[in-house]
Amino acid sequence: MANKSTRPQKPDTRLVTGGRDPQSFHGFVNPPVVHASTVLYPTAADQVAHRARYQYGRRGTPTSEAMENALKLLEGDQCAGVALLPSGAGAISTALLTTLSAGDHLLVTDSVYRPTRNFCDTILKRMKIETTYYDPLIGKDIGKLMKANTKVVFVEAPGSQSFEMQDIPAIADVAHSKNALVLMDNTWATPLFFDAFAKGVDMSIQAGTKYIGGHSDIMFGTISANAATYPRLNETRNTLGLCVGPDDINLALRGLRTMSVRLKRHEESALAVARWLEKRPEVARVLHPALPNDLGFAIWKRDFTGSSGLFSVVFKPTSEKSVFAFMDELELFGMGFSWGGFESLVIAFDCSEYRTATKWNPGGPTLRFHIGLEDVDDLLADLERGFAAMKKAA
Ligand SMILES: *Cc1c(COP(=O)(O)O)cnc(C)c1O
Repeated sequence: MANKSTRPQKPDTRLVTGGRDPQSFHGFVNPPVVHASTVLYPTAADQVAHRARYQYGRRGTPTSEAMENALKLLEGDQCAGVALLPSGAGAISTALLTTLSAGDHLLVTDSVYRPTRNFCDTILKRMKIETTYYDPLIGKDIGKLMKANTKVVFVEAPGSQSFEMQDIPAIADVAHSKNALVLMDNTWATPLFFDAFAKGVDMSIQAGTKYIGGHSDIMFGTISANAATYPRLNETRNTLGLCVGPDDINLALRGLRTMSVRLKRHEESALAVARWLEKRPEVARVLHPALPNDLGFAIWKRDFTGSSGLFSVVFKPTSEKSVFAFMDELELFGMGFSWGGFESLVIAFDCSEYRTATKWNPGGPTLRFHIGLEDVDDLLADLERGFAAMKKAA
């Protein structure tokens, strides 16, 4: 929707207005869910000239455009365009295929989402694109790893499972000075809590499956690109033939409208649970960048405007049996992958088997929590019972 004021709208307002054009759809608040392949042309001359607002379902519909425009508005002026992909993993692979060619070199944080790593180590490797993993805490020293053919530096903050923070402005400065692009997985913070383009990122990726969707009922991915990278992104997406079904886009758009209120509640509840866990005798460390005791706190405070519902915990050394007893006792924390929905989750993890540039040695069993929208007191009571079961099994 148009902004008649000269004053830029705040993000919460942009979440509500973005991608909406009610007068194009008889005044209805939301765009239609357009199920489409063929688009009919009015005349033979139009068909031959491909003269139409839309060409073909795969190449865009009013539904996909509404979502792209909504996210573009949220990202701000430096975002030139958005591509929608069928999953977060699909968004990551598409962003990398957009920016890399045979013979190129790629730098990827060692704390990256594991399937990203898998894509680099298999398909990119087969295409003669070489990946070097780097310490997430490297900062401006990233320059020491850059070669003449380094085209992309991939960042993710906080890191998957282990929550290391990265100095993205410093990394971006060095990368740009050597003509490399900076790609970021911004799923944890979303554009609401990390303004990727203002911090030097060229392409910002989200697993829309998580907070955009917000209800654990879709697979969805997005890439937001600046002016330097968007044309090639759009071309790559079209050439690969990637598109998302309209029902899932509609659910994503519905989720996006409430993302800010949900995130604020996830943030508040996750901080309350994380602080409570920090004081538990069973807990050695809480890995949450918005806690002052966290190694990444200073960077988080400088660069981020909020924190979301996902963090990890390192238990003091204890038996696997007692950790499983803790997890099995929990009622409100489901055990399952993904996150970002309304419900709380917990998983046990171990990064040590796949990290290569750094050594993951937390000193005790590790669990990752997603704090949902339940009442915090109920969550704490659930965890309390978990700890009692843990003690009994020890
Ligand atoms: C879940 C996740 C992805 C992948 O998203 P999918 O939609 O599950 O493919 C990518 N990055 C991060 C950080 C994630 O947590």
